Amino acid sequence: MKRFTVKDFIAHNNPCINCNDSISIKVATLEDNVDGPAFLRPTVSNDFTLIDLKVTYTKTLKLWIFHQNNKFIASSVDDLKLFLKTHRVYLRSHCERCYTNIESHFLDFELDKGYIKPMGISMESVFVTDDAHRYHLHSSFATNETIIIIDRINKVTPISPMRFEVPLIPLSKFRDKEHLINKMKTYLVFS
Ligand SMILES: [Zn+2]
Repeated sequence: MKRFTVKDFIAHNNPCINCNDSISIKVATLEDNVDGPAFLRPTVSNDFTLIDLKVTYTKTLKLWIFHQNNKFIASSVDDLKLFLKTHRVYLRSHCERCYTNIESHFLDFELDKGYIKPMGISMESVFVTDDAHRYHLHSSFATNETIIIIDRINKVTPISPMRFEVPLIPLSKFRDKEHLINKMKTYLVFS
């Protein structure tokens, strides 16, 4: 499986393959025994990504991840260690326009060496539209499977969406939107 540094992940599907908008990057933190993640908005510069991982009245746990080498510095290594005992962290890339959403695996911090191991992608939910259809590719990298749902736009009579389960088709397989749509049209031919 392709591995991503934080920088690679931010560049993945950015701009969005469907609408060419800049995507929004969030850092998700999942706390033990708490339902659902919290989404943090990092500051992304050319050289680093800065995350306020935990904010209290008295202090903020800040984490800088450097794009050149995926190394990190925390405002307090001890506080980061404590935080990571009860929280898992992953990245989410989201297009506000078409809702294409991509999530990374949990970040694997090498605390003693000060870097984050390159991670894989856990899921992609990609929406692409042309004049006649909306194509939704929902890919789970854990099950190695993509569910393709093809819906007609502006249908005159109601028609159920077509649904195909196929071996994993990651977004990285496609050069651009046209390439993706041409591939999806082959499913329409055989349906
Ligand atoms: Zn988009």
